[in-house]
Amino acid sequence: MKVDILTLFPDMFDSPLKESLLKKAIENSILEVCFTNMRDYSTNKHHKVDDYPYGGGKGLVISPEPVVLAYESIEKKPNSKTIFLSPGGKVLNQKKLKELSQFDQLILLCGHYEGIDQRAIDMIVDEEISIGDYILTGGELPALVLIDGVSRYLDGVVGSKESVLEDSLSNGLLKYPQYTNPRKFREIEVPEVLLSGHHKKIEEWRLDQSYKRTKISRPDLWHKYLKNKKEVK
Ligand code: SAM
Repeated sequence: MKVDILTLFPDMFDSPLKESLLKKAIENSILEVCFTNMRDYSTNKHHKVDDYPYGGGKGLVISPEPVVLAYESIEKKPNSKTIFLSPGGKVLNQKKLKELSQFDQLILLCGHYEGIDQRAIDMIVDEEISIGDYILTGGELPALVLIDGVSRYLDGVVGSKESVLEDSLSNGLLKYPQYTNPRKFREIEVPEVLLSGHHKKIEEWRLDQSYKRTKISRPDLWHKYLKNKKEVK
């Protein structure tokens, strides 16, 4: 998958893409990440990209021209989607990450300051996505969140496909608690059932733990899960 990022701050992406699984995905050509700095497309002699909002108000708004010119400079693949990271979009979830992993190219537009002139958004954006109901300084961290989440669905990024499918939220539930060595840590033992070797019992215990966790920590997800189960039946 190719990800093109439209940003004013490409250095913000530096270290997260140079560590761990994203680094490997890039090294193995599973993922390609390219940056287009919108400032390079400013026609202003001081490379200014923002201005005061029409109608008054605080802060600065990114002008439409550098955004659209930068976008037009990107070579588009046929199966491509342009996303504006914005607190006004639909909140990102696991289902959306999986859906986005089917594209050959994602073009991610990162706002900054007070945001981007609406005309540029209307001209180039297919979808707006938020990473949660809070405001960040820019779209760069949300874009990294999206890239990280999507890349886990790309073949060869996560060692075992099963582990992605068993993750919290993939089946609408939170994942059961997990344990590794040592068997006893500061007087606390690993739950007995996990040592039994009885696969069916372990599976039942894990499902029960998933139910309990979801019910307590995320009642919203629990009600959704029950509703979906009823509908499927
Ligand atoms: N004035 C804008 C508003 O009230 O909606 C907020 C602008 S915010 C300070 C600057 C940029 O950060 C936005 O244009 C967007 O690209 C990004 N951003 C901030 N919070 C975000 C979130 N929760 N999800 C996705 N992008 C976000």
